[in-house]
Amino acid sequence: MAKIALSRSAFFHNLSLLAQKLGNKERIAVVLKDNAYGHGLIPMAELANAFGIIRAVVRTVEEAEAVAHLFDEILILNPRTPSSVDARFTLVVNDLDTLSTLPPHTRVDLKIDTGMHRNGLHAADLKKAFSLLIQQRLQLNGVMTHFRSADILGSELFWQTARWKSVKQEVLRLCGIHALPKPLFHSANSAAVLRLNHYDDDYARCGIATYGYHEMPKPFGPYDLKPVLKLYAQKITTLSLKKGERIGYGGTFAAPLDMRVSTYDIGYGDGLFRYDGEGECFLNGHKVLGKISMDSFSAEGDAEEICIIGDAKEIAHAFGTISYDLLVKLNPLIPRVVVP
Ligand SMILES: *Cc1c(COP(=O)(O)O)cnc(C)c1O
Repeated sequence: MAKIALSRSAFFHNLSLLAQKLGNKERIAVVLKDNAYGHGLIPMAELANAFGIIRAVVRTVEEAEAVAHLFDEILILNPRTPSSVDARFTLVVNDLDTLSTLPPHTRVDLKIDTGMHRNGLHAADLKKAFSLLIQQRLQLNGVMTHFRSADILGSELFWQTARWKSVKQEVLRLCGIHALPKPLFHSANSAAVLRLNHYDDDYARCGIATYGYHEMPKPFGPYDLKPVLKLYAQKITTLSLKKGERIGYGGTFAAPLDMRVSTYDIGYGDGLFRYDGEGECFLNGHKVLGKISMDSFSAEGDAEEICIIGDAKEIAHAFGTISYDLLVKLNPLIPRVVVP
């Protein structure tokens, strides 16, 4: 059976690098949304806990429930069922309407739109938001924003951090007026942590870098990150092809001479891209012969097991996308094993 190996040492290495950049590991909130970027929610949450990470970020209440026992705080980015409230859960609130629907004492982080225009409250609505918080007796735990261009070469990150700075001042002013304690501020994702030299928020939300990748252009870095995940495919069968015999759907690959080929148990149904047999396709150095099928592909030789993802970024870029996209779609049913 195919398997995914998760390297504890690579993960700890990446977390150490981020902790060094941030000053300490308590300032890292590990982002475990979407099955921990395809790595596997539970094993990655357990490893983060073993490293000493106290805060996690997930997308749904279901994910939060699955890892609640491992962290002091779990920030839920998209809490669709806000009735389920554990004392350790913090719900991200993106709009004023949601504030008026939450039950009393719900712990919330307000998300402020400082320029991404994806979701979040407008800074001009902060006053109203505070009135609603008080009226609904909600607990203001944090205030956050998200950067749209942290991994892009240019100055956009800097005007957005300037806006964020003025939002924080306004939040502190409103906290003063309403006699509320200072909330936790957080804004940076992985790229912003790696890039910014003076990050003074309470913590950062680190996803992709903890898994060993970044998608910043060449002028940044290099950053010493190590991929955590390796995907291994297992041989289904080996056969001997005669010169000229063709492999797979449409017979796009013809054997240039007599050769031994094997079929392996991973296909586009598992999150690999559907290579259509045009040009060349390599999976971690293994040349794919013919099209990739739903549940399998073919390669030369007869090895029992081959590693087909060692560097997800390399394969993703060859298919015109990014590491996040390939990783997050890996079949959750493939067994995950933690290796040293
Ligand atoms: C996914 C996400 C992150 C993590 O981003 P990376 O680039 O993977 O570090 C941080 N904040 C929010 C709001 C996110 O949705």
